[in-house]
Amino acid sequence: MMDLVKLWILNGTREFELSKRPLENVTRKGIEFVNEEVVRIDPTKKTVRTSYRQFHYDYLIIALGVELAPEQIPGLKENGLVLYELQDVPKIRDTVRKMSSGKIAIAIMALPYKCPPAPYEAALLIRSILEETGTSDSIQIDFYSPTPITLPAGGPQVSEEILQILQSKKIEFHGNHKTIAVEPGKLKFENGETNFDVLIAIPPHKVPSVVAESGFVPNGKFIEVDRTCKTSYDNVYAIGDVNQIMVTDKIAVPKAGIFAEGQGVTVARNIISQIKKELESAIFDGKGGCFLETGKKIAGYLQVEMFASPNPLTQLQSPSEDHFAEKEKFERERLERWL
Ligand SMILES: Cc1cc2nc3c(=O)[nH]c(=O)nc-3n(C[C@H](O)[C@H](O)[C@H](O)COP(=O)(O)OP(=O)(O)OC[C@H]3O[C@@H](n4cnc5c(N)ncnc54)[C@H](O)[C@@H]3O)c2cc1C
Repeated sequence: MMDLVKLWILNGTREFELSKRPLENVTRKGIEFVNEEVVRIDPTKKTVRTSYRQFHYDYLIIALGVELAPEQIPGLKENGLVLYELQDVPKIRDTVRKMSSGKIAIAIMALPYKCPPAPYEAALLIRSILEETGTSDSIQIDFYSPTPITLPAGGPQVSEEILQILQSKKIEFHGNHKTIAVEPGKLKFENGETNFDVLIAIPPHKVPSVVAESGFVPNGKFIEVDRTCKTSYDNVYAIGDVNQIMVTDKIAVPKAGIFAEGQGVTVARNIISQIKKELESAIFDGKGGCFLETGKKIAGYLQVEMFASPNPLTQLQSPSEDHFAEKEKFERERLERWL
């Protein structure tokens, strides 16, 4: 949930301090909350070590998310702002509000990344801020992505619709641009380079080091699981951003909170049925949706069914005030349900 509000912090409609909920609230549901860093997972001994103690488990659910890896792009930390980094978000907002002219570059630097529509939302919200400050006509926004279309997981139709929304707000999309380095005022791609005044980046993502060090990603970047979310280790599951569930040989389930939630429910059902010695096994249905905020309290809604046959089904419902209200409700309901 914290991630979702970053875009509201970006456009100045929300403060970080008003968006926090203590995780200790889970104790009300009879869950012990251990606020310690996990430093080692040993799936053969069935133990989890934190900075202070060791726990033995019967079932383990790894839900450690991803870490941002800006260091994988030389020069990024020194010369760019990171959209997904909480401390950079107010800096992006202030920088954009103070600009009177120039060029803003927004760059997705690697796949997969969290919430595929979020960088497009950010571009649209930034355009909306510039319209408010009256500087929109003198500021160019260029969007760079390594993918040929805006939202490969959403398919060509949805990607085209997103492209049209971007174009209607004078945001230029440059597909097939894989960033390899950043220099002062300059983005370097595999196939060329461009200049910028302000760079807003979505950097590569990686699993938290404890996951890599505990041997969970021998052949890939994320923990590979199927729709039961079971890892190759006995009674160990991985849910949310830390995992990778392939839908086709090229498309994986996007990293989104709505899917992390669905996978959590699936795993809970499976563990309960194992404890009850029932034979049924739940599988993650891959159904969900994501909002695409376009500014001025308007949002589109991307409805997704990742395991529809023969291909994932995605539909973009037109931006409206109703969808924006649903986005606010989405946050409210999650906080009430889980915290
Ligand atoms: C700008 C933005 C907007 C988004 N908007 C949406 C949206 O509208 N809808 C949507 O569905 N999704 C959205 N997302 C994506 C969503 O936030 C993530 O997919 C979701 O949070 C993933 O949940 P998770 O539990 O897997 O990981 P996280 O939410 O990242 O939780 C992982 C937790 O594990 C902790 N952790 C990591 N390592 C350790 C360790 N060693 N020891 C102890 N704790 C550790 C982390 O600190 C973190 O608290 C958005 C993301 C961004 C960046």
